[in-house]
Amino acid sequence: MKDTDYVVNGVSLEGVRNGYELVVIGLMKKLIPEYPEFDNCPRCIEDVYALSLSRIPSTYFRINSSFSLNDEPDETVEEIVRYALFQVINQPKHK
Ligand SMILES: [Zn+2]
Repeated sequence: MKDTDYVVNGVSLEGVRNGYELVVIGLMKKLIPEYPEFDNCPRCIEDVYALSLSRIPSTYFRINSSFSLNDEPDETVEEIVRYALFQVINQPKHK
């Protein structure tokens, strides 16, 4: 990825994020200790993150704006992250 890939007319769009990124990261930190069978390798951690986010409707907003994420109840996002952990534990993309 080049430095300019996320720049339009001199404006960087890297500060526009999917609001669920930090929700998923927070849930991963909370839930992973409940799964001792999870290997914690970088590949699997990335896969859980990607798999979780791809199953949640994305909601983009500017970092530091006061956008709220009330559309999706936290329990549902937690279920999605648990499902992603289950999938990656049972079918890791490596030997
Ligand atoms: Zn792994």
